[in-house]
Amino acid sequence: AETPVNVTVTGAAGQIGYALLFRIASGQLLGAQTPVRLRLLEIPAAVRAAEGTALELQDGAFPLLSGVDVFDNPKAAFDGANVALLVGARPRTKGMERGDLLEANGGIFKPQGEAINAGAAADIKVLVVGNPANTNALIAQSHAPDVPADRFTAMTRLDHNRALAQLAGKLGVSVSALKKVTIWGNHSATQYPDVSHALVEGRSVAEAVDRGWLVDEFIPRVAKRGAEIIEVRGASSAASAASAAIDHVYDWVNGTPEGDWTSAAIVSDGSYGVPAGLVSSFPVTSAGGKWEIVQGLEVDEFSRGRIDASVAELTEERDAVQRLGLI
Ligand code: NDP
Repeated sequence: AETPVNVTVTGAAGQIGYALLFRIASGQLLGAQTPVRLRLLEIPAAVRAAEGTALELQDGAFPLLSGVDVFDNPKAAFDGANVALLVGARPRTKGMERGDLLEANGGIFKPQGEAINAGAAADIKVLVVGNPANTNALIAQSHAPDVPADRFTAMTRLDHNRALAQLAGKLGVSVSALKKVTIWGNHSATQYPDVSHALVEGRSVAEAVDRGWLVDEFIPRVAKRGAEIIEVRGASSAASAASAAIDHVYDWVNGTPEGDWTSAAIVSDGSYGVPAGLVSSFPVTSAGGKWEIVQGLEVDEFSRGRIDASVAELTEERDAVQRLGLI
């Protein structure tokens, strides 16, 4: 049998962690042929709860799960990691300024970046889910100088999936009829869900729906869907976030289908005027375990303005963490 792939999950006792771990154990993260060994990281106060989840994972009797270990020490948790899902983060609490939020997360993602640098496997792939995800990924990446920067990514796949679902509903088609939707920028309310190049059954989506709906309903609904879920469910989205994390890593490892692309926040190489080094969402394809930015797309004036606004927010976040000495 194949040697197990080590998958480290932080915030393992949280809501997203609970939805994510069982899907990883069942083989949905890497594929039905790949055994996995889970390494769960939690803060000391939540270790016991993570151990409880580990017991439940054992009770799942998953044929592909070769073991579960629980840690409260990042160095140990990331030792030998092939895939790292950084879910645990410090949420914004009432009265917290953005600087405080960034600082609290710097205290989490800096040591995790260092631990990945020190001990992760040579093929390590990192997905940051915990918010502010793009900037948390930037912090971790900047503390892992020996790991290629393109191994650090942040999740905009949930935004991408939300966009597909909204379009499918509006057009009365299955999500599988849609191709080439893009999320640009930051995983925040400034993100830009872009259908300029999107196709429905091979035809232009932009021509199939009216512009007013796109600008006044679709874009804000996708960007604010997280708040809508909290309002209706009474708790933040967890299973859909876990599902998107599965999709992101699965595609990264196994490749994206020919003739389509997806969205992921990756370290910019300067494409589309996004300053190099920022972790920003782009239209991407994956092959051979590497993301590539889809090149040569025409960006109209409306899209330019939306992309620039979200990238400006990422630049501000980067400058703020720089001033705080976190990168
Ligand atoms: P969740 O599991 O619900 O969320 C975890 C993180 O994912 C949050 O930062 C959350 O951001 C983010 N997130 C990203 N996208 C989404 C989305 N679409 N919907 C919802 N959340 C999203 O949080 P819990 O509080 O249940 O669990 C967090 C766990 O992490 C706790 O068990 C805590 O102990 C742990 N933790 C572990 C650390 C570590 O391992 N070192 C460090 C810090 C915390 P947002 O808050 O903006 O919704």
